[in-house]
Parts: sequence; structure tokens; C-alpha cells
Amino acid sequence: MKINEITVKSLLRKHKKIDSWFITHQSMNLYRGCSHRCVYCDGQAEGYYVTEKFGEEVAVKINAPEILKKELDPHRKRTPIKKSYLNLGGGVSDSYQTLEEKYELCRKVLGVACDFGMPVSILTKSVLVKRDLDLIKQIHQQSGAIVSFSFSSMDDDLTSIFEPGASAASQRLEAIKYFKQNGIPSGIFLMPVIPFITDSPALLEKAARKAREAGADFIIFGGMTLKEGRQKENFRKTLFDYYPRLELEYQNLYTKDKYGLAKDEYYQSLNETFAVIAKKYNIPLRLPLKLFKNLLNENDLAIVILEHMDYYLKLSGNRSPYGYAAYSISQLKEPLSALKGQLRSIKGVGEQTERVIKEILNTKSSFYYERLCGIAGDRPRNLIYSENMQNL
Ligand code: SF4
Repeated sequence: MKINEITVKSLLRKHKKIDSWFITHQSMNLYRGCSHRCVYCDGQAEGYYVTEKFGEEVAVKINAPEILKKELDPHRKRTPIKKSYLNLGGGVSDSYQTLEEKYELCRKVLGVACDFGMPVSILTKSVLVKRDLDLIKQIHQQSGAIVSFSFSSMDDDLTSIFEPGASAASQRLEAIKYFKQNGIPSGIFLMPVIPFITDSPALLEKAARKAREAGADFIIFGGMTLKEGRQKENFRKTLFDYYPRLELEYQNLYTKDKYGLAKDEYYQSLNETFAVIAKKYNIPLRLPLKLFKNLLNENDLAIVILEHMDYYLKLSGNRSPYGYAAYSISQLKEPLSALKGQLRSIKGVGEQTERVIKEILNTKSSFYYERLCGIAGDRPRNLIYSENMQNL
């Protein structure tokens, strides 16, 4: 592995609108490139401008902790950083990849986050994160922390093919137990599941069962994208070596969409299948409200709840007005409570959505939302935005 030590001028990637998967406004990569070498990694796609050779070279942002200190310092800010989880991981690298043993950049940035009272969410495929339990505990006690692990399946043989440099799936599951036993919320990103290989109902059910046994707080689920270029070429080599008979199936499924998306109907059926399984094991498909309810300002809380409702409704095959309303709220400069009498003037907010928003402002939740979290997976088609919520 070739290592390039680099210095950077900025570290945080800021999201204008809160990300309702991770409940974050800012994320960071401490490395560029990744020794885990996941065959499907979309960080290797040309669009991400990673110049390092995938899996063979990694750039180490050696001044990351100092830069983070500057970026979080409230005295340097004209507008204060919005409260949400600081997201460590994902994108073009895994922050707990092998080099972290030597550089300890994660450990140092966790120390910085702790000093500034920032909540932190970590996503990794490496059990090295257990090393930092002491700091994670401290952060969790003062402001909140979540440690999540991503998987393409729970099968060690399959992960050794598709994620050769990462910790075995069974070790990741043990790590979830470890964090839960230590009082830290822990979840699973079951994504991407790999078409015709890890997407069988049996493997999906195994994933949900193992997640339940490990005590995971949620599973965020998703299918695989395959962009033309490096990502597709690299994936095809492994497919050819291990599953040559699937070549044609992949050609039919991935038809050169510019975002690397498979056919719509594949994702729809996959999501519906998993929703039924997750319901059986009683596992939420989005971060549970208790993990962000008291963290976010009122606008962000409304955005996240509305986006989650949108997700659950569409998952059940229904239409939803909530995604558009959430987007409109993200464009507001003023707090929602200042608009309480004029919520209907916000684009996309009709009578039903207005009622939901008022309820969120008053109670930090919504009866309808809680019902939707509970019923996703029942496929209650055409249930939506009925005026009679009591019928749900
Ligand atoms: S761990 Fe994440 S960033 Fe690293 S190779 Fe795998 S998918 Fe890519």
C-alpha cells in the first residue's frame, strides 16, 4: 500500500439541508482511498475525484485534527454550526481502515469533537473503532454518539470476497453487541446488497435476525449502484472470477444509467421485501426518533420527520406530499414557530402537512409518524394522507 501524507485546508463537507439518514449537516473523510477494497465501492467512481489508485494508495490527511479544531471553533464563526451529528466515515474512505492503527486520526478528531461538545456518528466496516470506546462514551454522555457498521451481507465467506480488507461480518456484529452493552446506540447500514448474490430473501432475513440478536437500533437498507468506468470494471472482474453466470443478469439490470442505478422495479421489489422482513423483526428502517429528538432545532426536526414519513409511505407504495414540504422548510430562514399561523404559505404544505408540523412543534413528534414507523412493511397501499389519521 502506497501512503501519501497530505495537508488539507478544509475538512468538513457541509450539507445545506440536514441529511435525514445520518442526521447530520457535516461529514468528513480523514483519508482518501481505502484499504478495505470493497469490490462495489462507489468511492472508486471517477466522479469522486479520488486520484489515488483504488485499494493500492491512500492519502492521509495528517493535519485533520487541527483543521477540525478551527472549523468547529465558535469564535471563528459568523453563523454557529447547527447541532446535529458530526458524521465520521462513508464517502471515499473508511476512517477506521488499517492505517488508522498508526495515525490515530479518528481518535484525535473524536477528542476535538468531545472538547466542543459535538455529537458524533461513526460509520465503519472495521472493529478497530472499539479501541475508541472511552472517548465515544464520553461524547455520548455529554451530547450523543452512534456507532454504525455497514454490511453487504452477514456472511463471512461473501464478505471475504466483496470486502477483502474489512473486518469479517461476524466481527462487526460482535462489535455492535459490544457497543450496545456499553450503552452506545449502534445501527446497521445494510447497503449495498449485491444483486443476485446477497439480496436473496434468505440472506436478507439472516441479516435482520442477526441485527436483532446483536441489539441493533436500526437498519438502513439499500441496493447497489454501478457507475460506468472504474467502479463497473472493477466489479465485473470479481463477478467474472466468482459468478460468471451472472454476467448477463447484470447487463440487463444495469443499463448504463448515468448515476449507476439499476432498474427501478428491482429497487422497489427489493425494498418492499426487506420492509416486510424488518417489520417481522421489529427493526426501524430509519434512525429512531429518540436518537435525534432533543438534538435538532425545530426546523431540522420537522424536515427529518417529514422525510422519514415520505420514505415510509413510498416504501408502502403510496404517494406522499411530505418530501416536498421538507425541502421547502429547508429553504426557510426563519424558525417554523414564527410562521405558526401561516404554515400553509410554505410550498407543499397542505392541510394534513400543516397539522403534522404543528404537532411536531408542540410535541417533538407526530402520531401519524409514529404509526408509519410501526406499519412500514405491511404494504398498506393507498393508505396515505388520509384526513382520518385515527383510521391508520
Ligand atoms: S469501506 Fe467504504 S470506502 Fe472503504 S472500500 Fe469499502 S465501501 Fe469503499
